[in-house]
Amino acid sequence: MSLTALFKDKTVFSLEVFPPKKNSPKEAILPTLQQLQSISPDFISVTLGAGGSDHYTGTVSIADLIQNQLNIPAVAHVPGLYQTETQVLNLLDHLSEINVKNILALRGDRIPGKEPVGVFNHANELVAFVRKNRPDFSIASACYPDCHTEASGFVDDITHLKAKVDAGADHLISQLFFDNQSFYDFKEKTEIAGINVPIEAGIMPCTNKKQIERITQITGVPLPKKFSAILDRYQDSKQAMRDAGIAFAVDQIIDLVSEGVDGIHLYTMNHADIAERIWEATKSVFEAANQKKAEKASNY
Ligand code: FAD
Repeated sequence: MSLTALFKDKTVFSLEVFPPKKNSPKEAILPTLQQLQSISPDFISVTLGAGGSDHYTGTVSIADLIQNQLNIPAVAHVPGLYQTETQVLNLLDHLSEINVKNILALRGDRIPGKEPVGVFNHANELVAFVRKNRPDFSIASACYPDCHTEASGFVDDITHLKAKVDAGADHLISQLFFDNQSFYDFKEKTEIAGINVPIEAGIMPCTNKKQIERITQITGVPLPKKFSAILDRYQDSKQAMRDAGIAFAVDQIIDLVSEGVDGIHLYTMNHADIAERIWEATKSVFEAANQKKAEKASNY
């Protein structure tokens, strides 16, 4: 079944992992993946560091484990900035060989001092290329509830997002955010722009101060007062910070599911125990929402 079809019947719950470091064996991640398997996510996506064939190999191997050993649909991230057309086609062929037909098409993070190849300068170009050359792939793309840091504003960013969808993106996965109102406002803007593919909300459980500082610095995502208060009060207590970070993510998810979000994409940072706790605390909410969806569908 195509991933996009999933959204018709349920509120999707998906996970993101990253491949083990360059010189670690791919099996290093197996215990984490096996623990995540107990959650029965709708899919697991695997990141790919921008540029460098080593990363490409890692991503393909982990996608292979997910798809063929765990029997969970895998989504491979494909950043275009540092790839030629031939490299992208090779990567897609490798993915096809392991029966992975789902990608997240991205521009990719810029690497300081490294010159982009100049073929795929923006994600919409990569989406169009894949749609044309490998029409059997399902394509997800990224979106930014707090606006992408390089965009001059929402008019700019949503216009570009619409171009990505028009080029063939089947569904969108959002950047993490900490204030659900940002997501609701963003969703309204996409509707006004005529973007009507499913949009998954990206949630990252932030459980230590260092991680939060790094994430907000990289993404430019603002921290609401409610989260800053947690940080101020609990940053010195590892356990309290962890519990509060998990509770904050659970609260975000319950609110989003209650408001009818298409799906939740959990940035696990390879912490299977945290993902498991979040799933335990929210799975009844997903089940109830899915039940309601099914009843509504059967009444038509
Ligand atoms: P784009 O859609 O190209 O947008 C980038 C900027 O350019 C935006 O400001 C946009 O408004 C503007 N823009 C877009 N199209 C045009 C156009 N045609 N003309 C002019 N301006 C335009 N990075 C990695 O390297 N590896 C990963 O695995 C990875 N996974 C990610 C997963 C998710 C869910 C998300 C949200 C991000 C991920 N990233 C990853 C980070 C991502 O690569 C960066 O956020 C990057 O800066 C933008 O990628 P994009 O695909 O959204 O780019």
